[in-house]
Amino acid sequence: MIMLLCHTPHESKPPPPQQQQQDSNPHAAFDTLDLDGHFSFQNTAHASRDFGNRFFFRPAAVLHPKSVSDIASTVKHVYEMGPLSGLTVAARGHGHSLQGQSQADGGIVVNMESLTRRPSQGHLRGGGGGRYVDVSGGELWIDVLKETLKQGLAPKSWTDYLHLTVGGTLSNGGISGQAFRHGPQINNVQQLEVVTGKGEVVTCSEKQNAELFFSVLGGLGQFGIITRARISLEAAPDMVRWIRVLYSDFSKFSTDQEHLISLDESFDYIEGFVIINRTGLLNNWRSSFHPKDPVQASQFVSDGKTLYCLEVAKYYNSHHDDAETVDMVCSIILMRTIENIS
Ligand SMILES: Cc1cc2nc3c(=O)[nH]c(=O)nc-3n(C[C@H](O)[C@H](O)[C@H](O)COP(=O)(O)OP(=O)(O)OC[C@H]3O[C@@H](n4cnc5c(N)ncnc54)[C@H](O)[C@@H]3O)c2cc1C
Repeated sequence: MIMLLCHTPHESKPPPPQQQQQDSNPHAAFDTLDLDGHFSFQNTAHASRDFGNRFFFRPAAVLHPKSVSDIASTVKHVYEMGPLSGLTVAARGHGHSLQGQSQADGGIVVNMESLTRRPSQGHLRGGGGGRYVDVSGGELWIDVLKETLKQGLAPKSWTDYLHLTVGGTLSNGGISGQAFRHGPQINNVQQLEVVTGKGEVVTCSEKQNAELFFSVLGGLGQFGIITRARISLEAAPDMVRWIRVLYSDFSKFSTDQEHLISLDESFDYIEGFVIINRTGLLNNWRSSFHPKDPVQASQFVSDGKTLYCLEVAKYYNSHHDDAETVDMVCSIILMRTIENIS
């Protein structure tokens, strides 16, 4: 998604002749900037594509920032060039969004992944319920997890797939099986550092610059570029009991899921998904069966019908909790929920 740099009419001035000349030559326009990172004007193919490989918009340049000030001075420069430059700026995380988000046709794409390894990364603070980690907006969630696990901690809310950036999912929502309890990832952010459309670096939270904070979270990159996020953490379990229940009846599936979500004592992770079952249960990328155990799969008669799967998990700690007791707790929850369990 393209971050349009907004100008109110009274702020717009026609660009001087020198600026108009720069506009046709982005290389010259950005040469004057003193950067820790660099611009790439030739090697832009990667930033021209979206995940589905359907939308192709070539940017004039890709910024590979090494500091927040690289992003701030670039955005400020574009802002000061005025709207007649026609330049737009888009932050690009891992580029896994669709339909041309994180692309800037003829504009500037900011490759957020080059803004990792900042000193604050992995710096865990706080105690009790206030534990958090400060991470770069370009950090992948998988790396956030690896870092926090070193201290026995993990973010409260996830996406299923972890090779997405912090800034990318916080610009959307970030949903997985913990969202029923903790809300999506955007509900689990304590503070953000944002580069605004004018190139200012602003710290915001629920209490400080709250309008910016709530605009940027889920804002599809339209309200600023997230350069740092303070993510809420909780103790990470060292064991998980993982269960999948397959359904051929959609209404039973959704009724059971709603029931599980409404319980006070339930699973720690609850997610439902659809299995398009054209290629058979074993060849399906969402298969619940192990290819080395075809007998188990053959016992489930599906006749190629679309299936629905409830995926649930109970977290526990192997030092304090007994696995058999956890199994029993899981069985009781499922028995109370599902009518025809086999
Ligand atoms: C295989 C796959 C699995 C997925 N799984 C899940 C899932 O389980 N749960 C879920 O919720 N979603 C999921 N998604 C969707 C995914 O969360 C979004 O597409 C997300 O935006 C991708 O993150 P990204 O780092 O690739 O961001 P990009 O695609 O690079 O960017 C997404 C949007 O955010 C903006 N943006 C990027 N970085 C920043 C920043 N630092 N500051 C401000 N704006 C920024 C971009 O301009 C763009 O508009 C999945 C997508 C794929 C392809």
